[in-house]
Amino acid sequence: MAFNTTNSALDAAGLPDGPTDVREMTHAHKLDCEAAESDCRFIIQSENEDEAIELAQNHMKEVHHKELSNEELREEHLQTV
Ligand SMILES: [Zn+2]
Repeated sequence: MAFNTTNSALDAAGLPDGPTDVREMTHAHKLDCEAAESDCRFIIQSENEDEAIELAQNHMKEVHHKELSNEELREEHLQTV
């Protein structure tokens, strides 16, 4: 019967065996601008690393007039929390 397909979808969603999923959800990329610029308290946090870097890059450019490369931001300023 066609209804069986909905049952299997519910079973998959109801399985409580996902410690790796929990880690993925708490994994975020954070950039605390205070670490780079002592007079700024801007904080960026995103689960998407590319997005965090892009936001940080925009902030650094617009507020601090600094052109930082993706590598500089990733290696020197970005924290994983
Ligand atoms: Zn700043």
